[in-house]
Amino acid sequence: MTGNAVRVQAVQNILNRAPLPVNPPQTLESLWASDVFTLSKMKESLPKEIFKSVKKTIEAGEPLDVSIADVVALAMKDWAMSKGALYYAHVFYPLTNATAEKHDGFISVQSDGSVISEFGGKVLVQGEPDGSSFPNGGIRSTFEARGYTAWDVTSPAFIMTTDNGSTLCIPTVFVSWTGEALDKKTPLLRANGAMNKAAKRVLSLLGHTDIAPVNSSCGAEQEYFLVDANFYNTRPDLLLAGRTLFGASPAKGQQFDDHYFGAIPARVQVYMQDVEEQLYRLGIPAKTRHNEVAPGQFEIAPFFEAANVATDHQQLLMTVLKNTAKKHGLACLLHEKPFKGINGSGKHVNWSVGNSTQGNLLDPGNTPHSNSQFLIFCGAVIRGVHKYGPLLRAAIATASNDHRLGANEAPPAIMSVYLGTQLDNVFEQISKGEITGSLNAGVMDFGINTLPTFNKDAGDRNRTSPFAFTGNRFEFRAVGSGQSVAGPLVAMNTMLAESLNWVADTMEAKLAAGTSLDETILSTLKEIIDNHGAVVFGGNGYSAEWHKMAVEERGLLNLRTAADALPVLKEAYIEELFDKLGVLSPVELASRFEIYAEQYILAIEVEAKLVVSMAKTGIYPAVMKYLAELSGTISSLNSNGVIVSNECLTKITALLNSMMETVGKLSAAISKHDFETIEDHLQFCAKTIRPLMDEVRQYADGLEMEVSDELWPFPTYQEMLFIK
Ligand code: ADP
Ligand code: MG
Repeated sequence: MTGNAVRVQAVQNILNRAPLPVNPPQTLESLWASDVFTLSKMKESLPKEIFKSVKKTIEAGEPLDVSIADVVALAMKDWAMSKGALYYAHVFYPLTNATAEKHDGFISVQSDGSVISEFGGKVLVQGEPDGSSFPNGGIRSTFEARGYTAWDVTSPAFIMTTDNGSTLCIPTVFVSWTGEALDKKTPLLRANGAMNKAAKRVLSLLGHTDIAPVNSSCGAEQEYFLVDANFYNTRPDLLLAGRTLFGASPAKGQQFDDHYFGAIPARVQVYMQDVEEQLYRLGIPAKTRHNEVAPGQFEIAPFFEAANVATDHQQLLMTVLKNTAKKHGLACLLHEKPFKGINGSGKHVNWSVGNSTQGNLLDPGNTPHSNSQFLIFCGAVIRGVHKYGPLLRAAIATASNDHRLGANEAPPAIMSVYLGTQLDNVFEQISKGEITGSLNAGVMDFGINTLPTFNKDAGDRNRTSPFAFTGNRFEFRAVGSGQSVAGPLVAMNTMLAESLNWVADTMEAKLAAGTSLDETILSTLKEIIDNHGAVVFGGNGYSAEWHKMAVEERGLLNLRTAADALPVLKEAYIEELFDKLGVLSPVELASRFEIYAEQYILAIEVEAKLVVSMAKTGIYPAVMKYLAELSGTISSLNSNGVIVSNECLTKITALLNSMMETVGKLSAAISKHDFETIEDHLQFCAKTIRPLMDEVRQYADGLEMEVSDELWPFPTYQEMLFIK
């Protein structure tokens, strides 16, 4: 093994590492939700009337009766203390994709110096963290620091246990003193509410009288990378930016396709089991796990839940993945593109809407052509994506996700809908004005006597579509792996609410004019597919032809970078959409643009600074050392009559000079701050800083292929991806 001292040490540490003991097996029943204050635990510990009241809020969306809070708080505290918790925290979700929590003790000191535990209804229901250090996008000035958290009864309280002990965590919304939402949960709850109202209007027009609250559901598939902590800690770029900014491609990458669904390495399996056990305790239904396409890449997919709960659980899942990795001597990378030339990570957000009386409203059944309720809801989604595709694009616009979208490994930045053969055909019939039947996919016959035959799915999958119908839900496939799913869910529920309201208005007008219900449904659907069918696309989303056709013939937007996509949030029609449905006020929306734009700029600035410092203080000295060695050896050999070529020397010198020249340009670019508008600054990051970073990297990666491995200062791709 060659490599500089740090790298050799890292590899030694890994090889000498004692395996972590596997946790003793436990039954699913004993683990499941053991750290959650579930409905059934409330039922056990609360007086009947009070339990009923809380349940109504959770299940039927009725306002919380604050007068019962004291009793609930006491029961919650007793349960938490019985699990060893001495602290509680209001957990909230600021606009940074992170989770924030402020811890307080149950302790209360009495006048005689003794202590008792105390946790009243008021502190359960409401908290007051100093909000001034969280991004607020100009909603508040720093001297107006008050922020409030308020208990979200619909997401269960839980206990988080770390090496530092156990804390009772209470999910909350986070708003400013003036009432503006400073978090991701508030708009999600509002968007759900708007969608519920609109869906109920449509369901009652379809003839239903018993209609339970309609909620959205979310099942998120999380991709991630694992690298050994010894490598992670010696790569400043991984440590500070979450991705490698340098690194030549290894001789073997993912070209053999031998990692996808392959056997999970033993060390990773122990890690996964540890993660799953914690998730089960937290009531998070982890279900699927497998290797992903790239070496070192994996996926975990919990079973779907109500969108609000799924969103909180998704945040928790990311925390558990990261914390548990540390314990196992690994680092979990949630960045969308940790390694160049190797697939990036996404988070497919599976989404549907439904209720307890009508079921899943996006379930077509076996004969979708005769399921007008499904067709109306599916049509409303199609219309929504067509009208508000740019909003969906903006909801996934981050500096890190830019590396994936459109890079022929992830869906393109153009938002289109994939329906599959059967539904394509039904909507074609609708467009022609007459519905006759549903195509049948037929039977899957393996041609082997001993194997049973079964009915095939009505549609195949399309991995190149950003927004695909997958049997009984839509799958938003362009979401980034490190992102909160709240933003995409807000965008989807809001666009659907607007669409369903349009459907309800249109149907009401037709019915009032004496049109029959059947005719009303058909003509409404026809109007949708005639006006919005342009967004439906079943072909190869990666192809150049589609990119041209989408923009030139179908009028869809191709917003390539976050710098192009984020300004969509400032468009009048988006402001009107959110305002009309009561999801975000114009001030709240404006603050989101400010914050996301700022995060984009900051992320790129941090990376650019890292590129400069790693090139100057890591790569330059190593290369100079090698050049000195090389030129010394060459001239001494030459003077002794042994003639060796100095081709290598010339090549390395040229690469090094080019690298340092570009580093100079990049440094100058970073220090530019006089921009007229924030949009100009975004574009400067996308079009000037990023390309300069890529150029520095190109020279540096070239050097890595030339310079003695003994001197190379950073762990290589080969080491990080293949040594476990
Ligand atoms: P694939 O990799 O084939 O897309 P997975 O099984 O890995 O599928 O993930 C599918 C996800 O979709 C799971 O989280 C699953 O619970 C979720 N899902 C299934 N039905 C619904 C639904 N009605 N609403 C939301 N999510 C759903
Ligand atoms: Mg999927």
